[in-house]
Amino acid sequence: MSLFSLFYPQVCPICGSYVGEKAMRGQLCDECVAKLPRTEQAALRENSTEMALWGDIHSNAAAKRVMHLDHAAAFLFYEKEHPIQSAIHKMKYADQPMIGYWLGRYAAMEMMCADFFDEIDIIVPMPLHPKRLRERGYNQAEYIANGISEVTGIPIDATHVTRARNTPKQAMQRGEERKANVADAFSVNHPEQMYHKHILVVDDLITTGETMRSCLKAMKKFRGATFSVFALCKAR
Ligand SMILES: [Zn+2]
Repeated sequence: MSLFSLFYPQVCPICGSYVGEKAMRGQLCDECVAKLPRTEQAALRENSTEMALWGDIHSNAAAKRVMHLDHAAAFLFYEKEHPIQSAIHKMKYADQPMIGYWLGRYAAMEMMCADFFDEIDIIVPMPLHPKRLRERGYNQAEYIANGISEVTGIPIDATHVTRARNTPKQAMQRGEERKANVADAFSVNHPEQMYHKHILVVDDLITTGETMRSCLKAMKKFRGATFSVFALCKAR
């Protein structure tokens, strides 16, 4: 047994069973990987993740024209009462971001088979506001993006999009209030370096799609760019 595993017992973050000496922190056991609540959206257009992102737009063609959105999918359904809820919670709030890394890897391995990552030039993790980043110590979307990047070989860029305004936690707001809070929350740097790229924006959870829409709106300054979206989870 290595010193590392003495300090960090390698147990599955979902069921708590021993994953083994060779396992890394945050890695799920085979049984829990098999039972993940998959959306099977990777090859499916007009899926519920895409539709959440459209907002007031009503068709795939219009989303491509107006938002320059090529395709979007979530890997998992975020289900209340399902053990995935506690795993996501640990990833975001309990200092276990490696769960995101591993879920990103599992997602990439499966979604690659559906050609989900073809044509993507660069991965942009959804930025956190610097203040939130300081409090939490990490951006979970970057861990998810790292898992995807390692499997697909697509590089990550975390410098061109920033969160300009600190938005209150979304769980505490609803509807219009939420919309007003995320409007213009993002800004971009050196947009010319991102012209004409196909960018995959990665986030942990899509609920109303409002935050992602706001981010995509800011990235319109990347002239000629196309956007696709990967969400680890889509709320039901
Ligand atoms: Zn397990």
